[in-house]
Amino acid sequence: MNLHEYQGKDLLTSYGVAVQKGAVADTVDDAIKAYNKIQADTGADLAVVKAQIHAGGRGKGGGVKLAKNLTELKEHAGNILGMMLKTPQTPGGMEGPGKLVRKILVAEDCYVPTFDSCKEYYVSIMMDREKKQNVIIYSTEGGMNIEEVAEETPHLVHKEYIDPHIGLQGFQARKVAFNLGMTGTAMKNMVKFISKLYKAFVGSDSSLFEINPCLKTGNDDIIAVDCKVTLDENALFRHPDLEALRDTDEEDPTEVEAKAFGLNYVKLDGNVGCMVNGAGLAMATMDIIKLSGGSPANFLDVGGTADAARVEQAFNIILRDDNVKAILINIFGGIVRCDRVAQGVVDAYRNMGNINVPIIVRLQGTNADIAKKIIDESGLEVHSAIQLQEAASIVEKVLSA
Ligand code: GDP
Ligand code: MN
Repeated sequence: MNLHEYQGKDLLTSYGVAVQKGAVADTVDDAIKAYNKIQADTGADLAVVKAQIHAGGRGKGGGVKLAKNLTELKEHAGNILGMMLKTPQTPGGMEGPGKLVRKILVAEDCYVPTFDSCKEYYVSIMMDREKKQNVIIYSTEGGMNIEEVAEETPHLVHKEYIDPHIGLQGFQARKVAFNLGMTGTAMKNMVKFISKLYKAFVGSDSSLFEINPCLKTGNDDIIAVDCKVTLDENALFRHPDLEALRDTDEEDPTEVEAKAFGLNYVKLDGNVGCMVNGAGLAMATMDIIKLSGGSPANFLDVGGTADAARVEQAFNIILRDDNVKAILINIFGGIVRCDRVAQGVVDAYRNMGNINVPIIVRLQGTNADIAKKIIDESGLEVHSAIQLQEAASIVEKVLSA
C-alpha cells in the first residue's frame, strides 16, 4: 500500500526525521490558509505547491510549482487542483491520460538560504529478498531518476546492507554520511537523519522508503523534500492508524472491491481469467496458462473458503474485465472439499445466468472424483479436468476455437 507524500512526511515526522513542512489542501481556500501559516511561521514568501498523487516525476509534468507570493500561490493551487497530471510514472506515461489531482501539499521552500547553496541527494531503504537483509541505497546524484543514474554512473550508487537481527549500527550510518561527502554539522545531521529514517522504516513495517531529493541546505540541515512510502500489506494489521491512510481513489476500483470481499486480486492484461486458492498455486496456474499459449487476465487468490457466495464474487470480479475469453478455476481441495467447491461453481454459474465465456475447472484433492462428476453432470458449459496440464490444454482448445 502506497502513501501520499504528505502522509509519508507525517509518518517520518513522528519518528523525528526532518522533513519539508507543509499542509495538505483540497481547495484553493485551504491552500491560502496553509500559505499564510507558512508565512507567519517562517517569515518567507516562497512556498511550493505539490500535487498529491501516487506517482513520482510530478515535477516533470508540472505538478510541482514554486510560488513567490500569494497571487502566484492561488494561481498554482487553482491550476494543479483538478488537473490531469501526466508524469513518466502515471499509467501510459506522458502519452497517457494522466491522473486526477484531488489534493495538493503547500510546503515551505526549504532550499535555504539560497537555492545554489543547497545540494540534493538520494536515499532509499528497501528489503533485499535475495540477501535477506534491508538495504540503504544512496547517491550523491539526488533529484534525478535513480534508474538512469544506476545505468549511466553505477559507481555513484552505493548500498549498505543491514542485518535485520542486529539493526542499523552507528558505524553504518556514519559510513553512509561519509560516502555522501558530509563533514561537520552536515555529517552529524545526516547520521541522525539516516538513523531515524531506518527506525521509521522498521517501525512502520514498510517495504520501501524513497527520499529523493534528500536535501542538504546551505545551513547544513538535512531534510526530506520528497518521500515515497510503500507499506507492507501483510503487516498492516499491526498498524490500523496507517491502514486508515489508504486512498482508494488511487487504487484500481476492481482491486478495491475484491479486497472488501477478502479476495486477493491483481488485474493483468491477458485473456484468461484465473480463480485459484493459494498464492503459490495462483502463480503456477499463470505459468501454465502462458505455456499453453494463453495469457492470464488476473491474479486471484480466493483464499480458504471457496463456497458458492465467494465463487460468485470472484466470477463477478473476473468478468468485469472485457478481455476475459475463458476462466480457469484451479483449486486444491483440502479442508474445503472439492465437491463443495464444484457445487459452489455450479450454483454460482446458475445464479448469475450471464456467464458467456467457457469455464475450465480443475479440482484436485479431497473428493476430486465426486467434484468432477458434479461438474460433468451439471449440463453447463463448464469443462472439468483433474490434471493441471489437461486443464491447460482445454484452455488452449477453447481459446483457439
Ligand atoms: P517529484 O518530481 O514527484 O519527484 O517531486 P519532488 O518533491 O521530488 O520535487 C521535484 C523537484 O521540485 C525537486 O527536485 C526540487 O528541484 C523542486 N522542489 C521541491 N521542493 C522545493 C522547494 O522547497 N524549493 C525549491 N526551490 N524547489 C523545490
Ligand atoms: Mn522526488
